[in-house]
Amino acid sequence: MDIGALRGTQALRNNVLKWMGFCLGVLAGIFAGFNLFINDFFVLGALEVVFASFCFYIFFYTRKRNGHLWQSLTLCVFLSLLITLGTYLSDIKSLLFIWTCSLPVLFYLLLGKQYGKVLSLVVALLQGGILLTKSSLEPLNSINFLLNFSFTYISIWAVSHTFENSRAEYGKRLENLALLDPLTGAGNRLAMTHYFEVELKNKNGLFILMLDLDYFKNINDQYGHDVGDRILIEVTSFFRQRISKGYIFRIGGEEFAIFLPDSDPQSAYDFADMLREQLSTTIHNIDEEAINLTISIGVACYMPNQTLKNFIKCADDALYQAKQQGRNRVVTAYELSQQNKAS
Ligand code: GH3
Ligand code: MG
Ligand code: MG
Repeated sequence: MDIGALRGTQALRNNVLKWMGFCLGVLAGIFAGFNLFINDFFVLGALEVVFASFCFYIFFYTRKRNGHLWQSLTLCVFLSLLITLGTYLSDIKSLLFIWTCSLPVLFYLLLGKQYGKVLSLVVALLQGGILLTKSSLEPLNSINFLLNFSFTYISIWAVSHTFENSRAEYGKRLENLALLDPLTGAGNRLAMTHYFEVELKNKNGLFILMLDLDYFKNINDQYGHDVGDRILIEVTSFFRQRISKGYIFRIGGEEFAIFLPDSDPQSAYDFADMLREQLSTTIHNIDEEAINLTISIGVACYMPNQTLKNFIKCADDALYQAKQQGRNRVVTAYELSQQNKAS
């Protein structure tokens, strides 16, 4: 499974950017013609020509690749300026200001909640100020008009905000479901692969620790599966509290993995041994039982261009040796290869 399939936001934003680029490009071109040759608003017309060109550039750019934040931001700010300037210059009866109501939807869809909130507020204040200075309406009508306009704008703003909020939350929940182990909250294999490919592969001094609880089957047999589950949760949080950066991954029943970037053989070994030593002296109080358990750890160093599968295998071989040598110990892949060379 590709993690990109879980990231709907970027695909949605790119699609909106592409088609808004096309539609707004066509519309801005038509308005530019009107303003330059019929209405005699040269500044507005010229700005619309620039805006139409920018929109078509966005359309062609986003057909082949993902758009950038600056492109969405420029489109939103430019369009808002055109609408505000148009409202200021034109007669209110032209109803140009109605375009303002489309802006919150565009802001939230293209830029998300934070930008959406700020830009919607700025546009509301600007347009409110401009409409208040328009003297072409009778006083009573002005109030009615402003109330109707404000309520329409606020309703559309509220709907856009709620929609974006729920969409983002739903996306996050879906991502967590796919990437986190439901019992312990540690990352799963998919998360581990993604983290390795995106963040770690090109880092220097990368090490992996494969950790396996010793005789865990006995814990299940002696105290029951539920207690076993709670031990797994406690052990995950034990590891998490001791990792300064990075994540803990649960990659099998009672098997975990930790990456150590920017490290060296001695520090990686020391860290692994500290985990082993501290866990072996920790007592887990579960259902009035005092349970103590140990781990065996295999450590491997990443070689340039090595696959993750091969990297894991090196650490797994070292872990196997740690089990063979009696458990509750750390074995490194490099000491293993030296032993193999010597024998
Ligand atoms: P070793 O020292 O060789 O690693 O012995 P072990 O007993 O830990 O290893 P083994 O692979 O024989 O057993 C692993 C056990 O982990 C078997 C299974 O009952 C238990 N286990 C796997 N997943 C879970 C889980 O989600 N919850 C609980 N409670 N137990 C689990
Ligand atoms: Mg085990
Ligand atoms: Mg195991």
